[in-house]
Amino acid sequence: MDSLEQAKCQKMADDIADIMPLTPMIYKAFCQIPRTHFVPVSIYAFKLDAHPIAGNQWISSPLTVAKMTLALEAENCDNVLEIGCGSGYQAAILSKLAHRVFSVERIETLANDAKSKMRQLGFNNVNIRHDDGNVGWKSYAPYDRIILSCACDEIPKRLIDQLKDGGILVAPIKNSHKQSITKFIKKGSNLEQITLDECEFVPLLEGRE
Ligand code: SAH
Repeated sequence: MDSLEQAKCQKMADDIADIMPLTPMIYKAFCQIPRTHFVPVSIYAFKLDAHPIAGNQWISSPLTVAKMTLALEAENCDNVLEIGCGSGYQAAILSKLAHRVFSVERIETLANDAKSKMRQLGFNNVNIRHDDGNVGWKSYAPYDRIILSCACDEIPKRLIDQLKDGGILVAPIKNSHKQSITKFIKKGSNLEQITLDECEFVPLLEGRE
């Protein structure tokens, strides 16, 4: 990353940290991930808003990425599963916190683009799969953490099955007309639930495209 982009990423991390306290590892991750690789229109790259990307999808606002990442508590975890890779930005942030990141995307062109970005950037601990995230990614389960980057009414059972006991799952959950970032902690056969901020994500759809 060149020094100009580095300075801009750091400024964005500072802007986020002015709004919500970041852990040192999350702050550093925002400084290290070259945001212009993930946001197609570079003048918007460092604004704290959501942006349209290919396939009629959205890259989340960095503030939302920060909130989801804080809720996930993925620092030093072994493995994290993301459903809804999109541009790959959230997965790239997670790659600086956890040892291995697995991300599933149902739109083939997005999955392929994200894969080649990770290769270009040398983020070798991010694995991306073109598939329906409703089924998770069984071969590397169980996961310490699972994050849904798309909204659902309730968490698919197969994802809960792929979460380790004591693991954390963070997802945007739809209730009536709004969505809330929701944190789930798996405790044996129970799922403890904590509702955090309101949010706006595209829906978790069925099947691949
Ligand atoms: N994390 C992304 C934001 C993704 S937007 C980023 O940082 O850019 C949500 C993504 O979820 C979209 O790309 C959409 O195609 C994907 N998605 C929706 N339903 C899905 C499903 N069933 N399986 C996998 N991906 C899905």
